[in-house]
Amino acid sequence: MRKLFIAGNWKMNLDRAKSVELVRGLADAFRTTTNVDVAVCPPAVYLSEVAGALQGSSIGLGAQNVYSKPDGAFTGELSCPMLKDVGCRYVILGHSERRAIFGETDAQINEKLHAVLAAGLTPIVCVGETLAEREAGRTAEVVRSQCRGSLAGLSETQMRATVLAYEPVWAIGTGRTATPDQAEEVHRDIRELLATMFSSETSQQIIIQYGGSVKADNALELLSQPNIDGALVGGASLKVDSFSGIVQAASAVKK
Ligand code: PEP
Repeated sequence: MRKLFIAGNWKMNLDRAKSVELVRGLADAFRTTTNVDVAVCPPAVYLSEVAGALQGSSIGLGAQNVYSKPDGAFTGELSCPMLKDVGCRYVILGHSERRAIFGETDAQINEKLHAVLAAGLTPIVCVGETLAEREAGRTAEVVRSQCRGSLAGLSETQMRATVLAYEPVWAIGTGRTATPDQAEEVHRDIRELLATMFSSETSQQIIIQYGGSVKADNALELLSQPNIDGALVGGASLKVDSFSGIVQAASAVKK
């Protein structure tokens, strides 16, 4: 039985005071929630401050990106040791905005993934097709290719330490969610692919989150699908009520 995992990706939103206020509200709201793993991924510049506000809470801290090298002349970048140093447990890799706006490739994501795992952090690797790719009937091909490229060279143990997030690009920040059936179909396909790349035991253990306009009112149905093990949440993670509504829905899921 996979434990549901809800992570909030704040992207480039909120300021220092609002970040702390939000996380204090969440820590309060989730005090008694034990059957769901929860994490927040604030802008890197607020990680330390948020880590302080999370002291004593079970909410995990994550970064939205990282560079693969541990240190050196890489102006503007952050390393895995730095993220660990400020209390991070998770790192989002290959978000569609990083792929589309910053040109990140599967090969770069794969290099980061190996660095994140070697550092003992938990990666959340994002994959997902664009609307044009879906409409051309290429969803499975695109998602499988992203998985193969991003996850290349992982050992069975490393794969078990990796979280995946299926995020159809057309559903991110658009208010247009994949139907539970559409999402489940891709999640099932990813799990089948993982069984061929690794083993069926490993594939059954991997947490595959869904992301794309998840809200409190659609979370229960999505999260009740057999192969959907959580959510990566953008917009709805920026307010205590909307994010805690999703976590409450996750908490009520029976599989
Ligand atoms: C995301 O950015 O990962 C995301 C899923 O955003 P939203 O929930 O706003 O669609």
